[in-house]
Amino acid sequence: MNLDNCNIVAISFFMKDLLADKKLSKTPFRKEVLAIFCQHENAIPLSTIEKALEGYNRITLYRTIKIFLEKGIIHEITISGEESNYAICRDCDQVTHNHQHVHFKCKQCSTIFCVEVDPFPAIVLPGYQIDQLEIQATGLCVECNV
Ligand SMILES: [Zn+2]
Ligand SMILES: [Zn+2]
Ligand SMILES: [Zn+2]
Repeated sequence: MNLDNCNIVAISFFMKDLLADKKLSKTPFRKEVLAIFCQHENAIPLSTIEKALEGYNRITLYRTIKIFLEKGIIHEITISGEESNYAICRDCDQVTHNHQHVHFKCKQCSTIFCVEVDPFPAIVLPGYQIDQLEIQATGLCVECNV
């Protein structure tokens, strides 16, 4: 599934597949929230999702986000001192989130990007078992760095 080509026309089809894939019932609200993620290339804070929704129940939204996180549909990006951001996952499942990318926060436009790095750096901590490794970086994004 290529999310890079996720445009408005493709959304309804894509949604159907994604929700069926992850064994989630296709409630209109879940579709609506997913569509918002689909319309954003980069990570978005909850406030952006809230603004995009017309009339919603806050508890239903929190529950939807929680389910999407658990099912490996989206992941949470927490940068200290900031509101949590969420971005769509590419290759995650219900068991583990597996991200081979760096979270980059642009200090100028405040956008948070999921930037693929290949190969993803391996870190060895003797005696420790690493389940998840997250790398965060800040600076100027491609757009702002001109
Ligand atoms: Zn994930
Ligand atoms: Zn920027
Ligand atoms: Zn990410």
